[in-house]
Amino acid sequence: MSLRPRAHIHLSNIVDNWRTVGNAQMAGSTAAVIKADAYGHGLPQVAEALHDAGCDHFFVAHSHEAEVARATLGSHPNIYVLNGPSPDEEALYRENALIPVINSSFQFRTMADWLVDGVKMPRGYVLHFDTGMNRLGLPEKDVFEVAEAVEAQSPSLIMSHLACSEDEDSLLNAQQNEALKKLASAFPHVPLSLSNSGGVWLGVDYHHILTRPGIALYGGGTPPKDVTLKPGMTLEAPILQVRQIEAGETVGYGATWRAAEPTLIATLAIGYGDGFPRSASNKGFATLGGNRCPIIGRVSMDLITIDVTDAAELARPGVYAQLIGPDAGLEEQAALAGTIGYELTTGLTPRVKRIYES
Ligand SMILES: *Cc1c(COP(=O)(O)O)cnc(C)c1O
Repeated sequence: MSLRPRAHIHLSNIVDNWRTVGNAQMAGSTAAVIKADAYGHGLPQVAEALHDAGCDHFFVAHSHEAEVARATLGSHPNIYVLNGPSPDEEALYRENALIPVINSSFQFRTMADWLVDGVKMPRGYVLHFDTGMNRLGLPEKDVFEVAEAVEAQSPSLIMSHLACSEDEDSLLNAQQNEALKKLASAFPHVPLSLSNSGGVWLGVDYHHILTRPGIALYGGGTPPKDVTLKPGMTLEAPILQVRQIEAGETVGYGATWRAAEPTLIATLAIGYGDGFPRSASNKGFATLGGNRCPIIGRVSMDLITIDVTDAAELARPGVYAQLIGPDAGLEEQAALAGTIGYELTTGLTPRVKRIYES
């Protein structure tokens, strides 16, 4: 038996979560954001499962991710490239029928050059306006200039991205939504897209024609109380060794944890070399048979140590402890490590064996 950490990828849960997001909408379509290897869950596998379930719109960040998605999914679905095109990629975009998201005046000129001889983009293109995040997107003030310059082929979608969608009290949400609606009037009949997962939970006014959930598909983020998402993965690692230590002894590099009383410790075959964050040292937890076992001492490259005093009868070499999953909530584990669910699953390295379950 291998002693590798492993992640069971629950493809049917990811599909269920996609449907749950869709059920929160009154109209329009629900895309799937599968950038960064589907947030660490495996881009081809997740894309295929969602496409089989009826998903027709997929967003990635990079053109090479889009190529993988196209090769997996065949010619039918729409594949959007969020980071936009580079001037040397025309053939790649056309051959793979990719939909470029145009984020800047530079990218707009790239697009205009590609359209110059009247050969339209096979699936159209998207204009992304920045409505207040100041990260990526065409400036709002350029909207009329851009609208005048699009006569070669009008965009198939106008999009923007929310800065504070996970904070329903943020005034920026409504401001950005209004800004998008306002600038869209320069493009009559072109549909809109605004919401990531958090935006979907803000309500129907934010949904427009196409929502772009990512983290919700994988069971993370901040859904409202009446929405239950299922875990996209169960991350687990085997126990290599169990030892009893006495009060006063210390554990791990830097001796950062000292036993106040006799303690039973298990050493797991997972560490920051697998993408499990070192910032979880003395803060995160694992579970054994549903019992919570705190991480004690530092997370090292290949190993972590947990206190299994309360799960002594289960703590044996070869038994797997859970670090993310039904017993170990993704966002709770991430918060204890000072990060977010996105970074935790996306950061898992190839050393974690992915096991696909339909
Ligand atoms: C990553 C991304 C999304 C998905 O965001 P989640 O918060 O994971 O739902 C949607 N839109 C854009 C522009 C993104 O970059």
